[in-house]
Amino acid sequence: SNVIETTDIAKTYVMGAEVIHALRSVSIQIARGEYVAFMGPSGSGKSTLMNIVGCLDTPSSGQYILNGQDVSRMSDNELAEVRNKEIGFVFQSFNLLPRASALDNVALPLIYAGLNKRDRTERAVESLRSVGLADRAHHRPNELSGGQRQRVAIARALVNNPSVLLADEPTGALDSKTSHEIMDLFEALHSKGNTIIMVTHEEDIARYAHRIVRLRDGLVESDERNAQVTTHA
Ligand code: ADP
Ligand code: ADP
Repeated sequence: SNVIETTDIAKTYVMGAEVIHALRSVSIQIARGEYVAFMGPSGSGKSTLMNIVGCLDTPSSGQYILNGQDVSRMSDNELAEVRNKEIGFVFQSFNLLPRASALDNVALPLIYAGLNKRDRTERAVESLRSVGLADRAHHRPNELSGGQRQRVAIARALVNNPSVLLADEPTGALDSKTSHEIMDLFEALHSKGNTIIMVTHEEDIARYAHRIVRLRDGLVESDERNAQVTTHA
């Protein structure tokens, strides 16, 4: 079954007299458990597509069905609710709270989900364990390496069991060795059944994904199964 189905989605920005077609017509289906990379040159529409797929924004036209729900015409509040439930975000810059422990960072989304403290701690520890960081639960971000910080951010993204893990340039702030370690973690999460979409402009990172969608000028230029998946593990 498809987690994500976009049909002819377009996004237009009006800047004074200028109309910018960030997305012209994008139709993509992503099945549960797929591991997909969105690639494309700067300005091709990657961020716009990611924002729509991640329910941070809605398309100007076309339809987007996420996990069976039509989210294309939702209000900001409805969209926020779907986003919190369905999407786990990972960013280039980690976006961790600097004064909070790894455990508290990971547990944060569960406060909004209404879980009690004991359940939050249990789930956060479990999520940290799934990224190999259970022994760093009480460290603050500044006591962790870049790769460990990104693992904390991934644990936080997954703690609510989202339908989709959406990673925007997840290795952009990491050195090459650490980047490949994070990609090995994504492969492990994929093999456990997680649906992963990552946006990257780096070919050697995209090669880890099992499908590569290339955008150009707001259109899908190619959408191919990746025959040469990179794995190190
Ligand atoms: P990418 O992530 O591939 O670099 P973007 O989705 O950021 O591409 O941008 C696609 C096009 O839309 C670019 O021409 C960009 O300048 C334009 N664009 C993106 N966001 C906005 C915005 N908020 N307002 C106006 N133009 C935008
Ligand atoms: P880019 O990689 O295109 O420079 P960012 O990764 O900073 O952009 O952000 C991509 C989109 O996600 C933007 O629309 C931004 O507003 C949004 N965003 C960034 N950080 C967060 C966050 N912590 N929570 C929710 N939305 C975020």
